[in-house]
Amino acid sequence: MKENSLINNTDKYDPPITDKPYILPLAGFISGIAIWILDAAVDIYILGEEQTLIENIINPEVTEFWMRSLVLFVLLMMGIFARKAIIKHIELDKTLLNHKRDLENQVMERTKELQIKTEKMIILANQDPLTGLSNRRKFSELLEQEYNRFTRHNVPFCIIMIDIDFFKKINDQYGHDIGDQVLIRFSQTIKNSIRKTDEIARWGGEEFIILAIETNDINVKVLANNIRTSIKSTAHDKAGHITASIGITCSHQHDRLPDIIKRADNALYNAKNHGRDRIEYL
Ligand code: GH3
Ligand code: MG
Ligand code: MG
Repeated sequence: MKENSLINNTDKYDPPITDKPYILPLAGFISGIAIWILDAAVDIYILGEEQTLIENIINPEVTEFWMRSLVLFVLLMMGIFARKAIIKHIELDKTLLNHKRDLENQVMERTKELQIKTEKMIILANQDPLTGLSNRRKFSELLEQEYNRFTRHNVPFCIIMIDIDFFKKINDQYGHDIGDQVLIRFSQTIKNSIRKTDEIARWGGEEFIILAIETNDINVKVLANNIRTSIKSTAHDKAGHITASIGITCSHQHDRLPDIIKRADNALYNAKNHGRDRIEYL
């Protein structure tokens, strides 16, 4: 990529006219000598002067000598001035090129910073800060995608809603910080119990939600039971063992998305009402 080559400063400098300006005065001098010899040849072979060519070159008439010397001088001076001008041009070009590189490097750095900030913003917008799980917003997005897959291609999915039992008591008894620790550990416990393809999110407070894809009611009940037993068998510092109530539902034909969520919510409500630490399917 061009930007990368600029960062590495590997792009070549393209010099104007020549990158060896010192040859210009020499070229002026050689041209002057060539004209001197040419003029001598014209004098001898065209104008018929009675001298040999060498004699005319070495010892021309006074006016010829001054005229040829003047031409030689002018050509030499032109070479010197051209050399100076080109050296200045090259210096200016190189300064401009360095500025260009600096600017491009700055733009690259800013772009990188902006990319990192944007990535952080995306994470913040999609992640629950306490548990690091997806938040409700992100989950709703994924759920909608899965719902579309269900309506278009008839790929079934199930939802598992999990709510910690008597969580308020933990806060009241051990304080909010210990409550937070329980939520973090709890989220890890659930995460370790699900498949990589399932999505888990913090739905709010002490309530979590799982999207189990390409599954049916039998499998999801097994999954939910695994989750329930892992929750129960996990000992939390200070808070000890806790339980959770679980509501499950799966996609039915003609379901609208809110119907499915409502059904999972009702199933969870039933689990609470029927004594907690249990699973209800609707
Ligand atoms: P139930 O068995 O009926 O679910 O009872 P519960 O006590 O778990 O439910 P309730 O809705 O009465 O209380 C939930 C508590 O969760 C209240 C709220 O202060 C607490 N909570 C919500 N979010 C957080 C959090 O981020 N950190 C902590 N420490 N507590 C939270
Ligand atoms: Mg609760
Ligand atoms: Mg709750």
